[in-house]
Order: sequence, then structure tokens, then C-alpha cells
Amino acid sequence: MQFDIEINKEHVTAKKGETIKNVLDRIGIKVPTLCYMNGFSPTGNCRMCVVEVDGIPGLVPSCSHPVEEWMKIRTHSPRVIKARKTLVELLLASHPNDCLYCERNGQCELQALAAELDVRERKYQSKRNSNQIDKACPSIERDTAKCVLCGRCIRICDEIIGVGAIDVIGRGSESRIGTTYNKGLNVRACVKCGQCIQVCPTGALSEKQTFQSVIEVLNNPDLYPVIQFSPTVPASIAEEFNLKTNKDILNLFRAALKKMGFRQIFDTSMAADLTIMEEAAEFTDRFNKHRSLPMFTSCCPSWVKFVEDIRPKFLENLSSARSPQQMMGRLIKQYITSSAGQKSKNVFIVSVMPCTAKKYEAGLDNQKESEVPFVDAVITTRELIKMIRLLGIDFSGLEPEPNDSAFSIRSSAGKLFGISGGHLEGVLRTIGFMMTGQEMNPLKINDLRGLKSRKETRIKIGKHFINVVSVSGLANVKTLLDEIEAGRNDIHLVEVMTCPFGCINGGGQPKGSDEKSLKMRMKTIYDVDEEEIIKVAHKNPIIKDLYEKFLAKPNSDRNKELLHVSRCPVEL
Ligand code: SF4
Ligand code: SF4
Repeated sequence: MQFDIEINKEHVTAKKGETIKNVLDRIGIKVPTLCYMNGFSPTGNCRMCVVEVDGIPGLVPSCSHPVEEWMKIRTHSPRVIKARKTLVELLLASHPNDCLYCERNGQCELQALAAELDVRERKYQSKRNSNQIDKACPSIERDTAKCVLCGRCIRICDEIIGVGAIDVIGRGSESRIGTTYNKGLNVRACVKCGQCIQVCPTGALSEKQTFQSVIEVLNNPDLYPVIQFSPTVPASIAEEFNLKTNKDILNLFRAALKKMGFRQIFDTSMAADLTIMEEAAEFTDRFNKHRSLPMFTSCCPSWVKFVEDIRPKFLENLSSARSPQQMMGRLIKQYITSSAGQKSKNVFIVSVMPCTAKKYEAGLDNQKESEVPFVDAVITTRELIKMIRLLGIDFSGLEPEPNDSAFSIRSSAGKLFGISGGHLEGVLRTIGFMMTGQEMNPLKINDLRGLKSRKETRIKIGKHFINVVSVSGLANVKTLLDEIEAGRNDIHLVEVMTCPFGCINGGGQPKGSDEKSLKMRMKTIYDVDEEEIIKVAHKNPIIKDLYEKFLAKPNSDRNKELLHVSRCPVEL
């Protein structure tokens, strides 16, 4: 049902069931908010979005108040603006006074709101929030003093990731965001995904930064720094620096990394091809023997941690293949060092990933050999952006750098790993070939593309039908696991990505990604697949060469030592 209401003295059409904010968004009137998140039910926590409604004595939160036929609304009256300003002044009364030194300086929603509302002095003085920096987690840091108790992190962790690792503890003025037993974020439930960082309006949550130590390594003449990059990173860098995402972007991206001082640059997609080979062989073996099905992909460390800690019953269903980051690190240390004439101990491997959980993964005991990690440091896309700026790299003056690394060729199947559904699409191409000796036709699987959180389809391979499911947003996997526990036994292969829509929306990506930028990142990867000549991992000549000269048959015992990992619940 539609009806007219009055907003700022103009007649506007509204629909029954809409909130006042829904209508304001549609007609282009912006009201500030610190707690609202698109796609979530509103809480009215921060009260910044209040408006004045004739006939209602108090101000009403527009995010949660439904429109009604008789309403006359004022969104920016002097009373409303004064109330919003007072709310900000009260938040600032207990907030640290160190904006200049804050991680979010220039990108903080509270700071922007204070500027917008013309807050020019600290009007109220109250006891400052106690400064407790939680550094327990290898991926995420929390500065509780900067928290404005908006609740966004709690909701994303609970509703999208489904683990509820954080919550409000204490009462009244003693309230704060805390963790189980107040043990810091390195508690069992947290899967290190970093989605909470993405929604935090202030500097209260950030990744544990390692880029400064990487810069030190770049300046150490005794070390040989090399870098690998995830397939999602170049598109995000292009977005950040307003570069065209055409064919040259990869060469320009490499030029920037070379300019920074990295001696060799590797595209992790090549190792994704290797992961595909090992996973496809592992799946084919399990399928033929009707053993440990459905098989779950294991490239997302947050998902693996979730299984290890929360649903260990499914450990045997996880693929034992290492993630592409770890396979690449291991290969570089084992294989490349000799060709570059470097001692393994001098080679320092940096990964740039869209993911905060990769920092955690690189530090795990089962990702090291003789105490030496396969990957020495992991930085997020955000940290790389900082480094590019800090080191004065100007893309406009760079000459594109051709790909001259020892592992220079990758198929577009490996590139697809960045998007939910893409990992499955890539691995199915090789499963098809391994099971029939024929290339799949068509290679593209439309049912696995797009921004749906659960995609399910059935693929005919030879005389068999393979049922596959792709899930993104870890909370969505619980339903699937429950279905399997309840007896559903027709699913063969499952891809799980913790972050909604996959690594393109990872916890280490630039903040504030909207649907438009996600679609753009997705399109960049699908375009690569469209244009690429080698679209399947098993046709990558580097992969063939590796299997001929260095590795044994995919999923063989020898490769298991190098490229696979044994799964067991984590002891805390
Ligand atoms: S990192 Fe992920 S799991 Fe941990 S608190 Fe943040 S959202 Fe929750
Ligand atoms: S940590 Fe950030 S997102 Fe969480 S409640 Fe505090 S300000 Fe909000």
C-alpha cells in the first residue's frame, strides 16, 4: 500500500512497511548513523539518525521507525542537528584524543561525523575509556578505548560469520565489547576472518600490521625478498588508485612491487593450479572409493579453523591439500631458491592477501618445516596500499613489468579462486579431465557464478553426476552441515568461503566495499577467464613441468608430504 507523507515540507510517496530511513535513502536525503548496516535489521543503537516527527514528543530513530500515513518529518531541523551534535560530543568525551596517530585517521566515521556536525571543541570531559589493546590474536588487534559500542562487529560475527566470538560485557558506563573469559580475541570461537574490521566505524579494530617489518626486510641487503600476490589483489589496487583494469594492470602492479624492492614476484594463482591438481586427484580417489564424501575445499583458513574447533566431526571431509598461499611458499623455498642462487634462509617470502586469516595460517606449526615458516610475512591488501603510498610509488610513472618469474604461467582456473563458486568451477574442470580424459564442455558453470550465498548444481562427468555446493558467509554453512548430519548424502563436493562472496570481499580488502565494487572485482576475474587461452590447471605448462621434474603423481604419498597437511583439532 502506498501513501503520501511530508518530509522537509515536500510530499513524498512511501510504502507500508518501510522505515523512515528507507524512504530517506530513496529520495536522496542522508542521515548519519554509526550502527546501521545495509541488509541487517536496524537496532537504533547509536541514535544518530534521529528525526523530528510532528505529534511525537521525542526524536525518533529513522532506521527502525516505520513510516505512517499522517507523518510530517523534519530530518535536519535545528533540534535534530543539536541532538546529533550532542551525541557526538558525548562519544568524544570518553574517546582518546589521538586522531593524528590513529590507524583510521582520515577514514574514521566518528571523525567524519564530528567534522560534518562542526564539533570544534571537547565540550564534555569524562573518564576516558580504558586503553586495553588486545594483541592476543595473530590476525586482528582491538583497541577497546576507541570503541563506540555501535554493535556492528557483534552482528557481523554472529549473523554472517556465525561464530559469535565477541559480545557486550558489563553494564551501563562499564559496558564494552569483550571476548569469552576476557581472554583476548585469540579464543577458540574467533576464526580470524577480519569481517569485524570491515564494519567497525572507528579505529577500534584493525589487522595486526606487519608491513613495517616488510619494509625493513626490503632494506636489508642480506635478505632476498620475494612476494606472492592473491588473484584478487591487483583489481583492488586498481580500484584504489583509479587505474584501468585492463590487460596491463598486472604488469603495472608487478612494476610497483619491483620498484618497492621485491626481487621476484609470483602470482599465487599458479599455486592455485597446483591446489586444483591435488584436490581434483584427491576428490576422484574419494569418489571412486565412496570415502569421506562430501569433500570440502580447504583453502579458506577461517573455514578450516571453524571445522577444527567447532565442527570437528567434519575434519575427515576436509581436503588435505594446503592452500595456494602455503603451497606457493613451500615451492619457492624448496625449488626456486636453488635457481636464484640463494640460500633458503636468506629468502624472505611475503604474501599479499585479501585476508586477515592468512596471517594466522602462515604461523601455524603445520605450515613450517624445522621451525621455519613456508611464508615469512603476510600483509593485507590494505597494508600494501599503505606501503605503495609510503614508498612514494607513482603508477603514472611506471613502465609495465613483464612476468619473468620462474612460475610465470597460470591458468584462469586458478584465478577464479578469488570468487565464491570460482574454486569449484576451477577444480571441476580438472576433475572432469581426470575422470574421463576429456575436456569438459562447456567449461563455464553459470550456476556457480553470481552473488548468491549458496549455489548448488549437478554436473555430468562421463557417466556420473557430481552434486556440488558453494557456500559463502560462514554462518550459511551451518545449515548445510546440519543437513548432512541429518542424513543428506547426495552431495559430493563443497566449497566454503568464510567471507560473503569470497576473497574479493575478504577482511583485508579496502574498507567500504559496496555491491558495485564487488561486482567490478568479480567481473575483472571473469574477464580474465574469458580472455585466457589456458583455462584449466592441467594444461598449465609450468604445472606439467613441476609434476615431471619435481613432484610425483597428484595426491601421491610424496606429494602428500610436500603439499598436504594432516588435520586434527587445535589444542588450546
Ligand atoms: S575476526 Fe571474524 S570471527 Fe573473529 S571476531 Fe571478527 S568477525 Fe568474529
Ligand atoms: S569495536 Fe568497532 S564495530 Fe565493534 S562495537 Fe566497537 S566501534 Fe562498533
